[in-house]
Amino acid sequence: MKTNKKIKKIAFIGMGLINSSLARDLKIKKFYLSSSAYSRRLSTINKIKKLKLVDLASSNLEKVIIEADMVVVGIPVAAYKEVFKKMCSKIKPGTIITDVGSVKKEVIHSVKKYIPKNVDFVPGHPIAGTEKSGPESGFVGLFKNGWCILTPNKNINRDSLKVIKYMWELVGMRVDIMDPKYHDEVLAITSHIPHIIAYSIVGTIANLQTTLKKEVIKYAASGFRDFTRIAASDPIMWRDIILYNKKSILKMLYLFKKDLLKLEHAIENKDHKFLLNLFTKTRKIRKDIIK
Ligand code: NAP
Repeated sequence: MKTNKKIKKIAFIGMGLINSSLARDLKIKKFYLSSSAYSRRLSTINKIKKLKLVDLASSNLEKVIIEADMVVVGIPVAAYKEVFKKMCSKIKPGTIITDVGSVKKEVIHSVKKYIPKNVDFVPGHPIAGTEKSGPESGFVGLFKNGWCILTPNKNINRDSLKVIKYMWELVGMRVDIMDPKYHDEVLAITSHIPHIIAYSIVGTIANLQTTLKKEVIKYAASGFRDFTRIAASDPIMWRDIILYNKKSILKMLYLFKKDLLKLEHAIENKDHKFLLNLFTKTRKIRKDIIK
């Protein structure tokens, strides 16, 4: 997809793993003429400057968004309200705002009232990432071959939607449009519940007696290592994701617990058939995903 809109200035609000990866890719693709980034801490601003990710890095939000025709918000979702309130009172008419937040429905609702009528908000969620944080962890190609889900309002300006879609396609993503509530349900089961399981199982091991814990860590095979990698994800970001997607997560957690109970009974009763059926079914799912 092509678009005629030229981005003169892009402003990144937050420059962590996601926004810094996007900034790296878009710079190479010459998507914009100039760029700026907002971050709170001086230490992060210094890293952004050292990595030469944008033309201007500052903790002055107004200075960063001035004259921007596109703003990409990439901060923990619990911080949106405060930032949107401040940012939207200074934003120029015609600006397109987008974001990369992992939860959509409640977050969109919480900022809606701050967005002026002449500004378009096209919420987005690139399904890509690692357990690392900060601008130093971003890299070129993070988004390649992944999916990006956009959850705009039905009445969104089609040109603004086109520009955001084009931006994600430019960095190698396939784009889907989804209802925010549906997005949150899909992500609850595919991403949020797996993180909860990882946090929970690694937490259980942390509570074991010291000697047993030592052995577990020493002999950890790849399965457990994968859990620890996921459980090493940013605590603030994940606290926010879970609390902002509470409803969908609890719904999926209920289903998961029911299935876990069935599995527990099958083990107790040495139900060979149940175990074999389940493991065969899950193996097929893995094969389908790889395909
Ligand atoms: P990150 O690496 O931890 O960076 C967070 C950025 O937000 C930093 O610039 C930080 O600034 C700023 N920030 C933190 N708290 C803030 C606050 N209260 N007010 C204003 N700014 C604040 O984060 P990330 O992994 O890029 O995640 C950013 C967003 O992308 C999140 O909404 C997350 O849900 C979403 N996402 C993440 C992943 C992933 O795998 N990581 C994948 C898809 C989507 P300072 O450093 O100056 O404090």
